[in-house]
Amino acid sequence: MSEQSRREFLKKVGLGAAGVALGVGAGPRARRAMGEPIYEAGEVIQAGPVPRGGPATLAGGKVIQPQREVPVMRSTDVLVVGGGPAGVVAALAAKRAGAEVTLVERYGHFGGLWTGGLVLIVLATHGRQGEGLTKCVRGIGDEICERLLKVSCGIMNQAPGKRDPTSDPEATKFVLDEMLREAGVGILLHSWATNAIVEGSAVRGVLFESKAGCQAVRAKVVVDATGDGDVFSAAGAEHTRHLHRIGLVHRLGNVDRVDREKVKAAGKRLPSFGSATPIPSVRWVNMQGPTADCLDVEALSRCEMDARRAIWNRVEAIRATPGCEEVFLLETAAQLGVRVSRTLKGLTEMALADAAAGKAYRDVVGIGGGYALTRDKACQVPYGALVPARVDNLLAAGRCVAADNKMMNYTRLIAPCFVLGHAAGAAAALCVQDGCRPRDVEVPKLQALLKKQGAFLG
Ligand SMILES: Cc1cc2nc3c(=O)[nH]c(=O)nc-3n(C[C@H](O)[C@H](O)[C@H](O)COP(=O)(O)OP(=O)(O)OC[C@H]3O[C@@H](n4cnc5c(N)ncnc54)[C@H](O)[C@@H]3O)c2cc1C
Repeated sequence: MSEQSRREFLKKVGLGAAGVALGVGAGPRARRAMGEPIYEAGEVIQAGPVPRGGPATLAGGKVIQPQREVPVMRSTDVLVVGGGPAGVVAALAAKRAGAEVTLVERYGHFGGLWTGGLVLIVLATHGRQGEGLTKCVRGIGDEICERLLKVSCGIMNQAPGKRDPTSDPEATKFVLDEMLREAGVGILLHSWATNAIVEGSAVRGVLFESKAGCQAVRAKVVVDATGDGDVFSAAGAEHTRHLHRIGLVHRLGNVDRVDREKVKAAGKRLPSFGSATPIPSVRWVNMQGPTADCLDVEALSRCEMDARRAIWNRVEAIRATPGCEEVFLLETAAQLGVRVSRTLKGLTEMALADAAAGKAYRDVVGIGGGYALTRDKACQVPYGALVPARVDNLLAAGRCVAADNKMMNYTRLIAPCFVLGHAAGAAAALCVQDGCRPRDVEVPKLQALLKKQGAFLG
């Protein structure tokens, strides 16, 4: 039921605006009449069996998974796997370009490391182009930041003359939900993509695991925005594996209650509280962390627990400092800070040397802002960095695109991930519209679509 007809209906049955806004207040009868499924607590439901083919078995000491048919939950034009900055922008771009889109995310919220990882500063929004500083990240990524301006404590430094804004993670989750809903993107949260469906050299969808077991989503084009290249790796696309530093970000509360005079009087140095956030009393603290294999679950487990211990001890030391007693650990990130694990072998590999030299690409699909690595220079993103060298019907977006091991420290920043996601989503929609493979997309057509959607191509 559309929001309009829902409002009209609720007006008719005499429910107030609060009930409309929160989606609560309507009784079971009214909600059932609106077409919403209403269950009573404890009610027995028969949702249809999920064929599992039985449990895994042991044969000769080996664990054997049974061959089984996997139920197809839905078919879609474009399937975006991973709802981080790149995936959300890709889904919005594809949907706005007219494709039917499903977005699959393993956690219960969108934003990836930007929200769940508490990485709050959107780096590389602006860059030097010629003499001046240009806002490079426009289009959907910038629209998200502009939307964050409209919610209380949503974002700071998102204003003319400012660069690299910092957002609040909860505000960001809320805004991303709203934008995805408004666009009509099909959403599957709590769904972990575990395998690719491949026919010949073409990806036809993914398998995902949820509490309902293993199910499939079939798609005409898949965008791998998992950050770790889970889909392209499963599909057999060539890629490189990297070790990188793994950190755990945290937020501190009550930082505005620090008594600096008391710290000074005690002869202590003011501890570092990290960086400002849109909430004045709250700061976020980045962490470098040890270098490890981000695909090794035992390493991830160790890193997570070691980092949490280090953070706890550090916060205890802060609280033991006279004048800092009220500072507290607001939260550690729900999502461990994996920087890079896999990068795609694409038609084009972005290289830091090229970026620093200001290389121009014929298939430019976006401009990333400047960063220390690029000597603050704006930097072109070629479409070829998103397209697997061999596998078809698949695009990569975000921190797992084709980049050399220096450039990947640029392409993984949030603002370039917006740009990469925008290009991937628009390209996927064009593939559906023109019935072609990603490698055969007409680049001028893609560039025109991106410009129409507000992207900056130089
Ligand atoms: C500690 C740390 C500090 C950083 N600091 C900064 C900074 O200050 N500024 C900055 O701009 N950038 C920073 N970055 C980089 C930046 O946060 C990320 O690289 C960026 O968020 C990448 O976006 P993405 O969409 O490619 O991937 P992610 O943000 O990783 O999003 C990927 C999404 O895919 C989902 N996913 C993964 N696998 C699956 C699967 N199999 N099935 C379903 N869903 C899946 C994840 O849950 C996640 O939501 C930092 C990163 C780290 C780790």
